[in-house]
Amino acid sequence: METTNAPAVSGRQLVTGPTPTLLELQGIRKVFYTDEVETHALSDVHLAVKKGEWLAIVGPSGSGKTTLLAILGLLDTPTAGTFLLDSKPVQDLSPADRAHVRNKHIGFIFQSFNLIGDLTVFENVELPLTYRGMAPSERKKRVEQALERVGMSHRARHMPGQLSGGQQQRVAVARAVAGDPLILLADEPTGNLDSKNGQAVMKLLRELHQSGSTLIMVTHDPAYARLASRTVTLFDGRIVDESSSPGGEGQTLLPSA
Ligand code: ADP
Ligand code: MG
Repeated sequence: METTNAPAVSGRQLVTGPTPTLLELQGIRKVFYTDEVETHALSDVHLAVKKGEWLAIVGPSGSGKTTLLAILGLLDTPTAGTFLLDSKPVQDLSPADRAHVRNKHIGFIFQSFNLIGDLTVFENVELPLTYRGMAPSERKKRVEQALERVGMSHRARHMPGQLSGGQQQRVAVARAVAGDPLILLADEPTGNLDSKNGQAVMKLLRELHQSGSTLIMVTHDPAYARLASRTVTLFDGRIVDESSSPGGEGQTLLPSA
């Protein structure tokens, strides 16, 4: 699926009208069938996210946060419901089309970094761009810019195993943003980091948000959730609470160091 009639949404252009809705879930359900057990991981989820929003998703373990992120990231398909991405329904795409949309429009940041151990930092960031069929010169430019952005240019030739967890997550953020995706999805991005490295990664996410990225983040940490512009709470696969943070992007919650 290619975007043909939609306005360019990746640039930093002036917003003149109402902020466009970038993605919308309507009545999303997800049921997992294993042996004789039916697990209702998501039930009747309605959610709209606007361009430039920073949404936090919180909730207890097993409440459906990762499932929701997997659907938003086109890693999984809903059992029922409608998912509009940039106004186009994507819930019924073929696996190949889903992979294409995912690669072009979604950036992922995982709790466990998920870098490929026998590729260099540079190659890790480059790989999704290669899958996309991007020319080598353009790839090089994008990878260098992305590593610069996360302060990891000086480690481009290192292997992931030679980096600290915090540094690996910065590389994972570079990989996620190198393709200039419509949406960044992060599943407990600080979950495997100590508080200092966690704060550094959150600072990076805040900078991305301030520069216009649309960010959806699962977190266990209420202090980090408060940095987002809006928080939705999941419980038993349903959105049970929703709150806006007037002080979203709260500068005070993160030390500048
Ligand atoms: P969270 O990320 O909030 O901890 P998950 O989205 O991982 O929650 O899981 C929600 C529910 O769906 C849980 O009950 C979990 O056991 C179940 N679940 C998740 N993935 C699968 C799967 N692939 N097969 C079966 N059940 C699953
Ligand atoms: Mg999870």
